Amino acid sequence: MNLQALIEDIQQQVLPFYDQGRVADYIPALASVPPHQFGIAIHTLDGREHACGDADTPFSIQSISKAFMLALTLQADGEQLWRHVGKEPSGNPFNSLVQLEYEHGIPRNPFINAGALVVTDRAIGHFGDAHARLLAWLREETGNAGLMADQAIAASERAHGDRNAALAHFMKSYGNLGHPVETVLDQYFHNCSIAMSCRELARAGLFLANHGLSPQTGTQYLSRSQAKQVNAVMLTCGTYDAAGEFAYRVGLPVKSGVGGGLLAVIPGKMAIAAWSPQLDARGNSVLGLEALDRFTTRTGLSIF
Ligand code: GLU
Repeated sequence: MNLQALIEDIQQQVLPFYDQGRVADYIPALASVPPHQFGIAIHTLDGREHACGDADTPFSIQSISKAFMLALTLQADGEQLWRHVGKEPSGNPFNSLVQLEYEHGIPRNPFINAGALVVTDRAIGHFGDAHARLLAWLREETGNAGLMADQAIAASERAHGDRNAALAHFMKSYGNLGHPVETVLDQYFHNCSIAMSCRELARAGLFLANHGLSPQTGTQYLSRSQAKQVNAVMLTCGTYDAAGEFAYRVGLPVKSGVGGGLLAVIPGKMAIAAWSPQLDARGNSVLGLEALDRFTTRTGLSIF
């Protein structure tokens, strides 16, 4: 199959979807991203790379960082991580406070904000500077030593991060956060603010398609079983409260972010990253979802 021709064709098909969504503006620094951009990149386990559109433009990976952070922390923490965070879909918005009270400060899953804060807290326990550890890993996997958090976005998130601060304080009151709230928030915001391109994301996500082993660096980041677990949580919880729609239309483990990025994994074959900043009402990239839907529908490459 000519994957390059396919993604170029898909690009033409999804461009008419511009303006059906809106760029996230609850983080003011994200609101200034030019809306009409679309990129897609594929990295296969046999070393092929295909990309088109704005596939080399860096964007804020936002919650896609939660998938990488989960992998790093699961590797260090093992099964005890699941005593601090669940692995069930939440059915609630990613920043909801309601469920947390019912469930005594144990977040439903690692991909809602509360869950990602707990994972970051656990990672701080293992690595000290969890953000530095994540950045070092992503730099190694992408081969881009200049990969950085966008400090303006991190500062903007902090300045408008009252809800995340509330989640963190709440969990601390239940004894489910071991480090100071400010430290956890600072590292979480910096992780979300990392800027990467589609091409880099697809490369960095490839270990998830390869049973935890990075084809780039030969490092076994996760056991086969842990890679399965991360992919499973991406499938069931990776796209906010639209995980059912993504499973239905795309049929792959996917993690999205409010920067408009999507990272999808086809186990045993490839990783795909798509990006377009305009989001639907549930916070997922409109063009990104349209593109991944067309990709798996036309190739038959889904996990189902
Ligand atoms: N940094 C964002 C927040 O905490 C991440 C949101 C997202 O991409 O889901 O609100």
